[in-house]
Amino acid sequence: MTAAEVVTGVLVTALCIGAGMMLWFLAEYLLHRFAMHHLHGKGIMSREHLEHHVHSSWSFDVTHLLSWTGVAVVGTVLWFPLGWWLFGTAVGVLLAVGWALGYAFYEFNHARCHLAPPRGRYGRWVRRHHFQHHFGAPMSNHGVSMPLWDVVFGTRRSPERIRVPRRLALPWMVDEDGDLLEEFTRDYELVGHDRLDERQAGIDRARAFASLAPTD
Ligand SMILES: [Zn+2]
Ligand SMILES: [Zn+2]
Repeated sequence: MTAAEVVTGVLVTALCIGAGMMLWFLAEYLLHRFAMHHLHGKGIMSREHLEHHVHSSWSFDVTHLLSWTGVAVVGTVLWFPLGWWLFGTAVGVLLAVGWALGYAFYEFNHARCHLAPPRGRYGRWVRRHHFQHHFGAPMSNHGVSMPLWDVVFGTRRSPERIRVPRRLALPWMVDEDGDLLEEFTRDYELVGHDRLDERQAGIDRARAFASLAPTD
């Protein structure tokens, strides 16, 4: 095999995996916007996602295995045959692999947003983008892990500072007294109270299922 053939092979591989990932990022946007938020809790996908909005916390759940199964099925019955039909077996496999990698990228970064403080420019951006979705305007910033489709569809919102209801503050944002850590004051401000009584829990649930931002 010549050097030119090796380079071409690497480029084509990267292109096919990249195309598969882009398919995922488009699906991420469309599913999040239409199958989760627009349905207001109808169907398991919407219900589980809006539950996530009620508490704005993340923990492993068996429904994540269902999501992975769905991703594997779509890769196998849709993207693999499409790539195979267009360009052959290798392209079909790479397209499906890219699709699954895109989903893994989303899952990993979404979980990290909720569980750990930002590191680096991307870490800061993805948290700002996603927590504006949670706390500022749930009908914006539907692409969780990349901004392209929000820019294309005009749903990107990026205020200077994101207002976070005190009771829903992420654990990594605050000190033991519940006050915002100094290093996050340029991106976030805590608003409202930290009481989470039954009445407030009911309001938070109703607003999450209406795809409205939580009140202060
Ligand atoms: Zn989230
Ligand atoms: Zn959402």
